[in-house]
Amino acid sequence: MGRIKEMNFSLRKRRAAAAAKSAGVDGMLVTHLPDVRYLCGFTGSNAALVLAGGRAVLFTDGLYTGQAKAEAVGTRVVIAKKPAVVAACEWTAAAGVRRCGFDAANTTVAGLETMRKAVPAKMRRGMFVAVGPLVARMREVKDAEEIARMRKAARVGCELFEGMLTYLEAGLAEAEVAATLEYAARLAGAEGMSFDTIVASGVRSALPHGRATGAKLPKRGFVTLDFGVILDGYCSDMTRTVHMGKAMPGERDVYDSVLEAQEAAVAAVAPGVTAGEVDEAARSVLRRVKLDQYFSHSTGHGVGLEIHEGPRLAAKQKQVLEQGMVITIEPGVYMPGQFGLRIEDMVLVTARGGEVLTPSVKAWIEL
Ligand code: ZN
Ligand code: ZN
Repeated sequence: MGRIKEMNFSLRKRRAAAAAKSAGVDGMLVTHLPDVRYLCGFTGSNAALVLAGGRAVLFTDGLYTGQAKAEAVGTRVVIAKKPAVVAACEWTAAAGVRRCGFDAANTTVAGLETMRKAVPAKMRRGMFVAVGPLVARMREVKDAEEIARMRKAARVGCELFEGMLTYLEAGLAEAEVAATLEYAARLAGAEGMSFDTIVASGVRSALPHGRATGAKLPKRGFVTLDFGVILDGYCSDMTRTVHMGKAMPGERDVYDSVLEAQEAAVAAVAPGVTAGEVDEAARSVLRRVKLDQYFSHSTGHGVGLEIHEGPRLAAKQKQVLEQGMVITIEPGVYMPGQFGLRIEDMVLVTARGGEVLTPSVKAWIEL
């Protein structure tokens, strides 16, 4: 694979501005940091981006003078001496914007109050208009550069998992396993983990989100590893469940059912299919063997600059999958007080169907 190309920020800004126009506003304020990064490339922790009148202006503070100019190429940068969002709102009002869109899902009540106070009193009424998650919607469908980065992140995740197979042994603490995995991730180039690594062993494998604890890996029992790396800004996410020692009665059957459910959902992925149909493909396999009552979460989620993005793959979800979306498929079964397991892949929606980006083996593994 060749060098990963630069992101097309000017196209993204134009598309976001067009979406704002369609939503009936003449400007847009973007404060959710992953959205800011997506639109202009700036990765700092203090930023507000305004799109108005064919222009894009990024507001940040003096900590980021050099970084903002280097990253947000093609976007005007203003180093503000006051909170970035206040400076952004003042500029927006002065630029003649009368209706400024914002994303209510990523704006607090206090944040909205700050925005209103930053504009002249006579303009406050009607100035800020909730236009929905316009940028989040754009981000659901990945472009070629993003897909290249996500492929790479997923591949690093798989290599890390394969490395764990020769390392895992009874008696290691879950926290030790997580630390070793995360250390290897940093050495492999990860900027960080997508979320706190989940290592859930023995009876704790029945906890869908069992953060690594001091519990020791058992001589006989499941170990679920759910983790992801951030590479070039993009998150990976995968889960594999392995078995320490020989299977106990029933464990292998449950594993095979979860695997069948997972593969059925992957096979159901295609452009035009609804998220709910993919969820149902997994759930119906588990229903047939009366395990669906133990499948207590949704089948998957979109992933990208953030670990959890749209679309949500849950029962009855009507959202239609589109080519270029990257989603997870992660059914699981959790039997309280006994054991649990989950299998998760990242899947790219292509014209031909779902392409698994995390090819690590899913067949039963006994260590
Ligand atoms: Zn996961
Ligand atoms: Zn996930």
